[in-house]
Amino acid sequence: MKYDYGIIGGGPAGYTAGIYLAQKGKSVIIFEKDKLGGTCLNRGCIPTKSLLHSSEIYKEVLCSSNIGLDISLNSFDFSKVMAKKEQTVEKVRKSLELAVKNSGAAVVYSEARIKDKNTIIAGDNEYSVSEIIYAAGSIPREITGLNFDHEFVLTSDDVLNINNLPRTVLIVGSGAIGIEWARIFSNFGVEVFVSEIAEHLLPIADIEVSKRIERIFKQRKIKYFLNDSIEKIDKKTVTLKSGTVVNPDFILFAAGRIPLKPAIDCTVLGDSCGEIQLAHYAIHQAKKYALGIDYDKSLIPSVIYGEPEIAWVGLREQDCGEECQKILLPVTALGKSWCDDSTDGFIKLILKDKLIVGAHIVSKEASALIHELIIAMQNKLSIDELKQVCFAHPTYSEGIFEALIRI
Ligand SMILES: Cc1cc2nc3c(=O)[nH]c(=O)nc-3n(C[C@H](O)[C@H](O)[C@H](O)COP(=O)(O)OP(=O)(O)OC[C@H]3O[C@@H](n4cnc5c(N)ncnc54)[C@H](O)[C@@H]3O)c2cc1C
Repeated sequence: MKYDYGIIGGGPAGYTAGIYLAQKGKSVIIFEKDKLGGTCLNRGCIPTKSLLHSSEIYKEVLCSSNIGLDISLNSFDFSKVMAKKEQTVEKVRKSLELAVKNSGAAVVYSEARIKDKNTIIAGDNEYSVSEIIYAAGSIPREITGLNFDHEFVLTSDDVLNINNLPRTVLIVGSGAIGIEWARIFSNFGVEVFVSEIAEHLLPIADIEVSKRIERIFKQRKIKYFLNDSIEKIDKKTVTLKSGTVVNPDFILFAAGRIPLKPAIDCTVLGDSCGEIQLAHYAIHQAKKYALGIDYDKSLIPSVIYGEPEIAWVGLREQDCGEECQKILLPVTALGKSWCDDSTDGFIKLILKDKLIVGAHIVSKEASALIHELIIAMQNKLSIDELKQVCFAHPTYSEGIFEALIRI
């Protein structure tokens, strides 16, 4: 049989393209060497958010005396936290497997390689396809000079399988993965060190977001070292270039992922493109390919989870010249933040010619809030039109109005 499409990789890019193309009546075969769902579902977005959620409950319980609860922590079994994470991943994967099956796309669980533009080899079999889609994703970056023994020097894959919480951890890199893991460990009471080679934490973010995260990390006693990196490791003693010495139980190396590239010229989707390495970008690229639904690449949101959430879209302050105007509303201005005991953060809007060109939020619910701003930006709603929206009270959304009314 000759398939219309052969897709290498069953992650967000591959399964989204596969499902929609099959639903359109195309014959589709997906090759997956591991598990459907890819990095996102099995080693990325979903397991980390499950662990983050558990760690937040743990921390909240310990702080519950603030609201008059007298709860004592009798025991804590980290293996159950990890088991819950596994169950979450399995549940989501089962739904995905069903969705793929119902779409009519076939799945071959095997490593695949491209023989030529119409032939894929998997195991001992050759598959004829009219079109190849390469969606093999990315893998954690391992730098030379650092011995990735997966016991003392861990990747973001390894850390999902630890049996015990460390006493002390050194996280290298403060991108989304580094920040989320710093929060997970810190919530669980682990002593966390973060080493970042750039001038600020979360260097891809708006400068004020980075500075706020630094302030929040200081308050939480997460120690970070900027403009710094590992100089040498002697057994479990790590010396940074600045001369700082740390003795972590292990190092989590969270500084970048390498895209896997196809051997021939073909359609490439998701992380393999080496562009924006986010699941929703991979999914949207696949939707565009399969269904022709377009997107504006400049309006892809970034979200970092934990308390408070961080989300942004569009231009950052450091990208803008004098023609842009900025408004910053501290979330303390919002009654809801006081109800939630979550007053650290802000909603920052960057405006040009009465249009929002950048939005940067550090706040509870930032992951939801950012979409209201994306819809406004995509539809070029002027700030006068936005002001006419009646935002419910008390919400974080009303912060958008409160910010705009200050102009
Ligand atoms: C710790 C962590 C947390 C993350 N959190 C978020 C988040 O909160 N939000 C977000 O948007 N993004 C997040 N990401 C990024 C997100 O996981 C990726 O952007 C997304 O998974 C990319 O999808 P993809 O389909 O391109 O590739 P992948 O998800 O990597 O899928 C590629 C698939 O191809 C398979 N494959 C590779 N080579 C072959 C081959 N030769 N034959 C057969 N199969 C093959 C792999 O096994 C894999 O299943 C996170 C990543 C990590 C590591």
